[in-house]
Amino acid sequence: MADLVLKPGREKSLLRRHPWIFSGAIHHVDALRQAQGPASGETVNLLSFKGDFLAQAAYSPTSQIRARVWTFGNEAVDTDFFRRRIRAAIKQRLTLNIQRSTNAFRLIHAESDGLPGLIVDRYVDVLVLQSLTAGSEFWKETIADILLEETGLGTIYERSDADVRELEGLQPVIGPLRGSINHSPLTITENKLKFNVNLEAGHKTGFYLDQRQNRLRVRELAKGRDVLDCFCYTGGFTVNALVGGARSVVAVDSSAEALALGREHVRLNGGQVESVEWCEEDVFQVLRKFRDEGRSFDMIVLDPPKFAPTAAQAEKASRGYKDINLLAFKLLRPGGILVTFSCSGGVDATLFQKIVASAALDAGVEAQIVEHLSQAADHPVALNFPEGAYLKGFVCIKL
Ligand code: SAH
Repeated sequence: MADLVLKPGREKSLLRRHPWIFSGAIHHVDALRQAQGPASGETVNLLSFKGDFLAQAAYSPTSQIRARVWTFGNEAVDTDFFRRRIRAAIKQRLTLNIQRSTNAFRLIHAESDGLPGLIVDRYVDVLVLQSLTAGSEFWKETIADILLEETGLGTIYERSDADVRELEGLQPVIGPLRGSINHSPLTITENKLKFNVNLEAGHKTGFYLDQRQNRLRVRELAKGRDVLDCFCYTGGFTVNALVGGARSVVAVDSSAEALALGREHVRLNGGQVESVEWCEEDVFQVLRKFRDEGRSFDMIVLDPPKFAPTAAQAEKASRGYKDINLLAFKLLRPGGILVTFSCSGGVDATLFQKIVASAALDAGVEAQIVEHLSQAADHPVALNFPEGAYLKGFVCIKL
């Protein structure tokens, strides 16, 4: 196994058990034993400058994150290792009793489940696998076999089409990995509501599973309210608001396809399609148009796409978040509820709170945060990996 030797002092984050090593922290790769250096995804030893063993990691030759830790111990990184990690992740979901409320949930959440780069979601009886890094790619076939053995299921569909794969020098891969899907879309049940999920083409692995508990919260808060659901995608929040007794819902998304599925979801759950005004428009423009028309709402949901995937884009993203939150505060009636999210890795909860606060200030509005929201429990955050907490949200009340 090749050794990756760090620069003096650069072992600190590893000693705190953070799983990433950036290229700038590496002093040299010990290529004595291997003429060409380690291959993409191969397991390497991480050593301090003094030569102390720190961890075993997957090597990513093209990525700024040059290595991701599999283990801080000296256990072999082999089939049994992956079996132990996968079993632990499955057991964690049993502890959460997640299947009581849904048949679609995240089984493996990458770094936070000790498996960097690997996402596995379960939709009824189909597993959807997303391999994001050189390391998860290297072990993909082994992992697929273990997943079938440990879950007793027969189908794994691969959705390795996220942009971040490019940084790892990997091409997108979409298609069956084990077995085949015999019904598409697949209908899932989440907190007693039904949603059709297109595993082949839906966002992420098909559905925003991370918003499950927040959709339920919106259902609980929507009664009697005129709701505006911005970035509604296939209507997750819209359907929940309707079922929760909303008086009306305006649902906005730029994708006609997503809105069509939204209509289908309203019907599927016994709602009146007519009680929803569907707008295929740009949210930034719609909010301005509604402001100019003097329209107002008692509840607004803002669930935009990632404006800042990394910290480098945080400033531009902040302007985007501030803009929509400012306009939303203006459109809210007094006593109205703003449910606002950011899923940007580059914007942490503290920064997001500052952005929302300055939006309220500039809107000339007083508001309070009454609840902090986050990703659902099947998307855990390892304590040593704060980057895992990517989804943050607030329920605000306009005074
Ligand atoms: N709230 C959804 C998930 C939202 S995902 C749920 O719970 O399922 C983000 C959505 O924003 C996508 O559907 C995308 O089509 C839409 N989108 C992105 N930029 C937009 C814009 N400027 N205006 C309107 N919709 C936009």
